[in-house]
Amino acid sequence: MSRQERVYVIGAGGHAKVVLALLRELGYVVAAVFDDDAACWDTSLCGIPVVGCVDSIRQHPPLPTVIAVGDNRARAAIAARLDLPWLSAVHPRASVDPSVQLGPGVVVFAGAVVQPDCRLGAHAIVNTSASVDHDCQVGDFVHLAPGVHLAGEVSVGEGALVGIGASVTPGVRIGRWTVVGAGAVVPGDLPELVVAAGIPARVRRAVQELPAPEAGEGGAIAAAGGRGQEPRRAEPQEPQASEPPRIYLSPPHMGSRERELLLEAFDSNWIAPLGPHVDAFEREFADKVGAAHAVALSSGTAALHLALQLLNVGLGDRVATSTLTFAASANAIRYVGAEPVFIDSDERSWNMDPQLLAEELEAGVQRGKPLKAVLAVDILGQCADFEAIQPLCRFYDVPLIEDAAEALGATYRGRPAGSFGQIGCFSFNGNKIITTSGGGMLVTARRDWANHARHLATQARDPAPHYEHSEIGYNYRMSNLLAAIGRGQLQMLDERVRRRREIFRFYQQALADLPEITFMSEPQACRSTRWLTCILVDGTAGQVGGRATTREDLRLALARENIESRPVWKPMHLQPVFAGCPVAGGQVSERLFRDGLCLPSGSSLCAADLDRVVAVIRAAFKRPRREAVKPSLAQTVPARGST
Ligand SMILES: *Cc1c(COP(=O)(O)O)cnc(C)c1O
Repeated sequence: MSRQERVYVIGAGGHAKVVLALLRELGYVVAAVFDDDAACWDTSLCGIPVVGCVDSIRQHPPLPTVIAVGDNRARAAIAARLDLPWLSAVHPRASVDPSVQLGPGVVVFAGAVVQPDCRLGAHAIVNTSASVDHDCQVGDFVHLAPGVHLAGEVSVGEGALVGIGASVTPGVRIGRWTVVGAGAVVPGDLPELVVAAGIPARVRRAVQELPAPEAGEGGAIAAAGGRGQEPRRAEPQEPQASEPPRIYLSPPHMGSRERELLLEAFDSNWIAPLGPHVDAFEREFADKVGAAHAVALSSGTAALHLALQLLNVGLGDRVATSTLTFAASANAIRYVGAEPVFIDSDERSWNMDPQLLAEELEAGVQRGKPLKAVLAVDILGQCADFEAIQPLCRFYDVPLIEDAAEALGATYRGRPAGSFGQIGCFSFNGNKIITTSGGGMLVTARRDWANHARHLATQARDPAPHYEHSEIGYNYRMSNLLAAIGRGQLQMLDERVRRRREIFRFYQQALADLPEITFMSEPQACRSTRWLTCILVDGTAGQVGGRATTREDLRLALARENIESRPVWKPMHLQPVFAGCPVAGGQVSERLFRDGLCLPSGSSLCAADLDRVVAVIRAAFKRPRREAVKPSLAQTVPARGST
């Protein structure tokens, strides 16, 4: 069923939501929404970015477009000023006879019935469960509201609105731009430009505003080809097993600013690594995370690799890192020939347990081979316990690297993540809270280190007219194009953090009555970004007989509904590639891996997506929806203990 054809939608109001749902159902991919209300730019509607005003659509490559604006005048005005390939859309559960002529831009919603030999004019709306009997003529820009019934041979003039639940008897003619009130019964003709209501419907007054100039001139339906797309004949709808749209764990969330900056960079022809956007991104990023210097790189992994190089970590050295992390943290230690020493998580923050780190630091000194560095990871949006880790590193005189790849935007005692070590590392990979598709940043207080990192990242070219090298370099710099995207993303960071925390609170409230589920806690010193909402599943809690539902059962239940979720990181000491590496503790991270699940948490997810996730989880634990206490995203009252 999947057409995967890209389309645009104009309008970001309530009517547009219904249109988006319809387009999804038909397998279209809505590339962008346009609306003149500046307040909704850079937000998203059901996960689709609202990228700018209606007229800005001209600057985008033309795609089939639907005007999803319920108001007839507004729809007509937009159609009059834009020349686009208008898309008609018929819901798979509407019944439209194959003989019906559809004008461009017509939308027919679920449950509607349109009988033989009717004509639906350009941009007409046949709303949910409306019925249109044989031989009706429905003009351009008409809106038949939900539950309207037109008997046979009715004619509805251009721009007329027939209100919800109104009925029109056979052969009646309704004039242009006339409004029929909700629930009215129309037994005889109505003139143009009046408001009529009641049973039987009587003319109450004239329509106040005049219709939009030129609106609908040229009756697009009659002229074959109309403007842009050909009027489509309704095709018989095949019964479709419609799979619900995929909900991703943490998809990229782009806005219009990123697009503008990217195009500007493109037009400037600074396509190379380096360039003005790289410099600006580094400055803006350093300010944001409270660092003196920032170096934009091709990935977070590159940042970790260079951080270890800057600290002269090399062959045979030992570096302590969290066992509960993404492999990149430990891989970087291997790149320089060093050995990772894995430290278990503490129960509360899930990050490196400072007590175990202390024991490892002391053991190293006793053994006569001190640790060369500590690489502390801020996992899943939350800072490690730096109040304990920093003094330990100072006492043992071991440098601290902070892998803040998952925690950009988080704070610890009010200080930004990434500012706690001698070097901080960030990632802009596609699943992170902000993204440049791929990229990373190294931050440090030391100018000489920042310059050395830049040197190493650009193939370690010495200053000379020819290519001169005195050490081994890397090709690790970020491209100017991607830095442009990063600048736009960075501007949205605070908003993205706010939204991710809101999503966390939503899940917390919606699942509060399930004893099987607990949430990753937020220690008092931390303000997590809730990059990913993580739960622990204990299927035996509150269970009465039968087999307990496990984390994996839950993951599979979500997957069956086309919802992506993922187990919490598998600890590094359990990974085949790191078998044999030393590990301190391990039981805590093993349990977090066994029971931990990351839920869809992207800032572009909409309320309907989250409702779907919650419904599947509740069903997996045989807990029906609690309609009465269902929390709403609009209500931003923080849940207990999560401000
Ligand atoms: C994503 C991530 C990285 C690696 O970043 P890339 O940009 O993908 O190379 C490193 N450490 C942690 C903890 C991460 O989550």
